[in-house]
Amino acid sequence: FLILNTFAQGKEAVVSRGELVEIGGSFRIPEVMAASGAKLVEVGTTNKTRLADYEAAIGEETAMLMKVHKSNYAIEGFSAEAAMEEIAALARERGLIDYYDLGSAYLPELPWGLGAAEPSLPRILRDPPSLLSFSGDKLFGGVQAGIILGRKALIDRLKKNQILRMFRVDKVTLALLERTVLAYRRGETDKIPVLRMLFATPGQLRNRAEALRKRLPIPAEILDSQTYVGGGTMPNRKIPTVILALEGKAQELEVAFRAHRIIGRIERDRFVLDMRTVREEDFETIIEAASMISSEE
Ligand SMILES: *Cc1c(COP(=O)(O)O)cnc(C)c1O
Repeated sequence: FLILNTFAQGKEAVVSRGELVEIGGSFRIPEVMAASGAKLVEVGTTNKTRLADYEAAIGEETAMLMKVHKSNYAIEGFSAEAAMEEIAALARERGLIDYYDLGSAYLPELPWGLGAAEPSLPRILRDPPSLLSFSGDKLFGGVQAGIILGRKALIDRLKKNQILRMFRVDKVTLALLERTVLAYRRGETDKIPVLRMLFATPGQLRNRAEALRKRLPIPAEILDSQTYVGGGTMPNRKIPTVILALEGKAQELEVAFRAHRIIGRIERDRFVLDMRTVREEDFETIIEAASMISSEE
């Protein structure tokens, strides 16, 4: 909103029809653009947009070429999109601003081949767009905050926009964000919960499952399975996990655990706990809940 309002208010911003996304909570790119005062110019089709489509849309009123990263959905099959680098080069040639709404960003290369679907921040910054924005949570693993990177002259203009005051974050947010960034700088990515969960190996998960099963008052079986990243990033990408499948009626267990604020899922008619998102610190809570649930039966 801030970027569009600063650079494209009363002017046109060009976006692919395949990237007019809705993110969580019914927030829609076209509506955010309209509210910012920028005029949306759609190019291409749902499944295919080429660089020539952006080029053909450039006119007197164009201020910006914008790319929105497909973080929570996928277009597969007969499809094509222009790369950010190409869009940026075209924008610079025409004296326009190029902006990448990346949404979900991460730093270290991801395991399980996830990096193929989702570009890493260091890779993007080798040939950086003029402006880039992403969320402080999602894969970055910190607090909810909008982070904008870009050319200094453009960032300076953003800072002068009166609206910035309404969006600025509180010192608590900044302090928490600093902790996340420091963890990255020190290479302590295991301190970032989302990365710790992503990087855990099936061996570690199996050990965790063994340790929990030994103490669980409900009989359970340890099984290999697959799980999704979720959280608005990487749709249809499964990664390996280890589950504890509990003995008993799946639906009833699901409801009972949920009442104790423990969220499992049902796989092949069994209630399962996914070890990728269960921490050792959670064991007590789970064991306590399981004791209460098994004594109710
Ligand atoms: C998630 C997302 C946003 C919004 O980021 P939040 O910080 O979660 O509000 C914007 N654009 C894209 C492409 C996203 O995926």
